[in-house]
Amino acid sequence: MLDALATAARAFGVELNDTQRAQFDRYRTELLAWNERVNLTAIVDPGEVETLHFADSLACLLEPIESQARLLDVGAGAGFPGLPLKIARPDLRLTLLEATGKKARFLEHVAGVLGLDDVEVVNDRAETAPGREAFDLVVARAVGALPVLLELTLPFSRVGGRVLAMKKGPALPAELGSARHALNVLGGELAAPRTYALAGESRQIIVIAKVAATPSEYPRRSGMPAKHPL
Ligand code: SAM
Repeated sequence: MLDALATAARAFGVELNDTQRAQFDRYRTELLAWNERVNLTAIVDPGEVETLHFADSLACLLEPIESQARLLDVGAGAGFPGLPLKIARPDLRLTLLEATGKKARFLEHVAGVLGLDDVEVVNDRAETAPGREAFDLVVARAVGALPVLLELTLPFSRVGGRVLAMKKGPALPAELGSARHALNVLGGELAAPRTYALAGESRQIIVIAKVAATPSEYPRRSGMPAKHPL
């Protein structure tokens, strides 16, 4: 059961036990069942859910995460990468932030049926949600171009914490260049990225160290980060 995931997890330094495998199996069942009435994912092949959602999410474990870290997933959608990380690392204290009500309700449902402790779902936008400088680690996957993503994530990280931005595709060097101003303004600094291969393609986790407090005017009001990226 979920052998491809177990192999990928091992490559990222995690050995999944039977309880964790059963949790991933149930998560996939719930995701595909809810997806028939709520638009959660375009990936509906069970094998692809295992690889492109679960294994991809676990790639964040290439970056060391301290025990009981406070983890925030911004724009969690159906829970990626936050929920797979919580299943693999039950010690983490996870907050899932998601603007769309139906997706937030799915997240609450699935965290409940999987019996996960210390998971909070916040149905809000990153521009208005509480938790400024309160998290050790902030993760985001597929939440806009880097300058936008940085304004929606860096304010939540404590100084000394990190942001992990999951990215793929050939436009990455240009995107990194375009994020220089946002990094300076928001108190971030690029650290060494993590590169991995998944489904025959190279992917990257951009690692940003929070080196200074984010000025209080950021994030700007709802919609501004995406409309006028820094
Ligand atoms: N991270 C998930 C994944 O990789 O499968 C979902 C990615 S989906 C493309 C982007 C998600 O971010 C959507 O569910 C959307 O509602 C949410 N989102 C976009 N802007 C947001 C904001 N400003 N605050 C909170 N959530 C936001």
